[in-house]
Amino acid sequence: MTFPPPTGTDLSAESPVFDLSIEGAHIASASGLKRATLAIKDGKVAALGGPGENLPSLERIAAPGCVILPGLIDVHVHFREPGLTHKEDFASGSAAAAVGGVTSVMVMPTDKPMTTTPELFLEKRALAEGKSYVDFALQAGLGPDISHVKSLKDLGAISFEIFLADLVAPILVSTGEELRQCLRALSELDAVAGMTPGDDSIVAAHTDTTMTGQTESRRAFLASRPPLAEALGLARALVAADEYKVRLHVRQVSTAQTLDVLRRFKRPGITAEVTPHNLLLEDLDVLKMGPRAKVTPPLRNRFHLLALQQGLRDGMIDMVATDHAPHTPDEKSQGEIDLWRAPGGFPGVQTLLPLMLLMVEKGLIDYSMLVNACCEVPARTFGLFPRKGSLGVGADADLVIVDPAKPMTIRDEEQLSRAGATPFNGWRVGLTITHTLLGGRVIARSGQLVGTASGRFIRPS
Ligand SMILES: [Zn+2]
Repeated sequence: MTFPPPTGTDLSAESPVFDLSIEGAHIASASGLKRATLAIKDGKVAALGGPGENLPSLERIAAPGCVILPGLIDVHVHFREPGLTHKEDFASGSAAAAVGGVTSVMVMPTDKPMTTTPELFLEKRALAEGKSYVDFALQAGLGPDISHVKSLKDLGAISFEIFLADLVAPILVSTGEELRQCLRALSELDAVAGMTPGDDSIVAAHTDTTMTGQTESRRAFLASRPPLAEALGLARALVAADEYKVRLHVRQVSTAQTLDVLRRFKRPGITAEVTPHNLLLEDLDVLKMGPRAKVTPPLRNRFHLLALQQGLRDGMIDMVATDHAPHTPDEKSQGEIDLWRAPGGFPGVQTLLPLMLLMVEKGLIDYSMLVNACCEVPARTFGLFPRKGSLGVGADADLVIVDPAKPMTIRDEEQLSRAGATPFNGWRVGLTITHTLLGGRVIARSGQLVGTASGRFIRPS
């Protein structure tokens, strides 16, 4: 199948009413697939016509047999700017998002310096503007100092990130009283707490860095974060959150025990995310691939993987987010023999949609679950719906066109992240992303970036 370029002229006799129409495709929504013609005007979805209906437009994309999805929203990326731009920056990270079909990103505060004050928040926003290819929201870091919460909320912080483990002062929230103060402050402003659960004391007791051989260090790293550390951290956080009925989003659920804790405490206002790698890779992959697959929380065994897939299907896990956490190939290669020497994390924003499509292809989820988990629920949770997350009339025309008749292979050399190497290198997916549109304009076509960096700052409504 070929797509004419979006500059093709409408030859119909009627005078064009819309800027662009996409014809012949099925539109995916949280309620399933429906054939329709979609028309765009002034960057918004302007009309949804019946199959084959002629919506007179200046430009057309013929997409017979294709599927149109709302642009994906990745609620968990690290773009490393400011301070760590040898690993990634807003341009490289957002370019990877654009070719991968992700049109909005929420950027974590763990850069250098961390995004914890109004001044740092505004500086970061200025760095991204004019450089980001996709729309972006910024998260603020929240440690024991809660004095900036109101001003950061006023500036549009999309969430406030609380880390119970794996970070150091001034951002680590290590005591129950600090946690209580943070959650109370967020509750008063009706802001979202992003919670990275864990327990440093358990991690410290299980971390044996004297195991330095190739196999030994890989096994020792996997053993350093027992499921109990994550589950215990989450239980503390959820009990505290209940006290103040604060909106709380749980980051990176990686174990069956954590899911059990969620089942006990879930209520409206509590949401949870899982990463594609925790849904599709297992601990054995760390033994095989070493630093390429090193990530925190670590990959778990098949029992946890299957529990997480089920948790996504039954709605206990609300969304899929990547924890896109790039490091340079050189930094990663330091851990080839001794895994402790490599940093944890790898790129993910470009492979999110291909991997979700693979899950659809394998029958693990369907299109409505994909749209729920990667578009609609993220938009609703963080106050962006209905502008983002759906293709209803009036929504931003952020969308992805996928061709189910064309397979693709994920390859290191095609990753636009500065990290390059992905643990999914060589994976085949039966579908290809042909177009990504942001605000009605094509920003990527068949894996190639087109156009300029037109991403805008977005904030909760
Ligand atoms: Zn992260």
